[in-house]
Amino acid sequence: MSGPSGAGKGTLIAGVRRTYPQLEVSISATTRPQRPGERDGVEYHFLSTGDFERRVDDGAFLEHVEYAGNRYGTLRSEIDDRVERNRSVVLEIELAGARAVRRLLPEATSVFIAPPSVEELERRLERRATDSGADIARRIAASRWELDAAGEFDHVIVNADIDEATDELRRVVAHLLGANAPSDGPDRG
Ligand code: 5GP
Repeated sequence: MSGPSGAGKGTLIAGVRRTYPQLEVSISATTRPQRPGERDGVEYHFLSTGDFERRVDDGAFLEHVEYAGNRYGTLRSEIDDRVERNRSVVLEIELAGARAVRRLLPEATSVFIAPPSVEELERRLERRATDSGADIARRIAASRWELDAAGEFDHVIVNADIDEATDELRRVVAHLLGANAPSDGPDRG
């Protein structure tokens, strides 16, 4: 799953996992400073630049990138044995990483989460208030490049309304898991 920072990828995944807890999440490594409330080993494996580079040299990453001044990467250890055990695992990564994964794991399904507009994205990043002004500017700059690539993905979900977008993603995941999508209930026909 990819899409600009602030598009709501994390919130959507959390929503879908309430329905499908069997969907596992790949925990990326990053050199970005930990935000308040983030826990090492939960949101990310927080690494020093030196540790990150050592793992690059060891071939520990499936893919890794520099994004908005920090390093991010998917550890093979998060993916390999899950794929072997036939588990479904979601990667929440930016565009260059998504392209690499598509090449390395062609059987993967790619989903792009788009904001309703760049202006709304900017508002969300500011409201989230987790990043500095310079950081937000870098994320907005990256988003323009990312939005242009939406057409490369198997599915595009515009996150204008969080409940609707979560439903859409839930349908994609239900299909992948071979599960039945939850029924809409009798009142909605
Ligand atoms: P944030 O700093 O907001 O947590 O993440 C910034 C961007 O990096 C987001 O678009 C996020 O999806 C992406 N990202 C997080 N982990 C990885 C990763 O392992 N690889 C790649 N390529 N991008 C990642």
